[in-house]
Amino acid sequence: MIITLFGPPGAGKGTQGARLSGALGIPHLSTGDMLRHVISSGSSLGKQVAALIDEGNFVPDDMIRDVLSTRLDAQDCMRGAILDGFPRTVPQIAMLDEILSTRGSTLDAAILLSVPDEILLDRIAIRAASGETARPDDRPEIAAARLETYRVKTAPLLDIYRREGRLHEVDGTGSPDEVFRRILFLHKLAPAGV
Ligand code: ADP
Repeated sequence: MIITLFGPPGAGKGTQGARLSGALGIPHLSTGDMLRHVISSGSSLGKQVAALIDEGNFVPDDMIRDVLSTRLDAQDCMRGAILDGFPRTVPQIAMLDEILSTRGSTLDAAILLSVPDEILLDRIAIRAASGETARPDDRPEIAAARLETYRVKTAPLLDIYRREGRLHEVDGTGSPDEVFRRILFLHKLAPAGV
């Protein structure tokens, strides 16, 4: 089973992805976490990735495709995965379809967590102040750039999924428990039996 989570920065994809992973017994694959791992290796590739992410930009589509497809071949993904952060651009839609079809799989559900901008910026500011979980790209001016990149590059992708009837929209406001209950409710309604 493959589920992908969408939402602007701060929408709660990481939180809900981890919960869904626990509930369904399949791994939560965050492309952002994978890229931060590449950065922490200190390699020259890591430095290039850091330069892009730290300005609020996306990394090239081909790079993220390679990172994700390698990860999906690991043993723990045999029964599927919760994707968080992929696809994120229009060209990545076809990349995902291809990655899945070569593995005899398809996308079972695409879930969008909707949250108004002012709540997103508040949540990111709280994370930025939290020391332990703070990330370099949580600085206010970069958070605003990430929202803009999302609007320009990811919103058109969502329009395509919506038109194709592939997108399940969930209200992402409220507590993590409330949002998770909404997702599970959706999960019961999903025609694909996700
Ligand atoms: P958020 O969704 O909160 O912005 P993530 O942790 O998902 O944060 O991603 C952090 C950064 O990693 C993004 O701002 C982007 O630069 C990069 N990234 C993650 N996934 C992709 C992707 N599929 N394509 C291109 N860049 C990506």
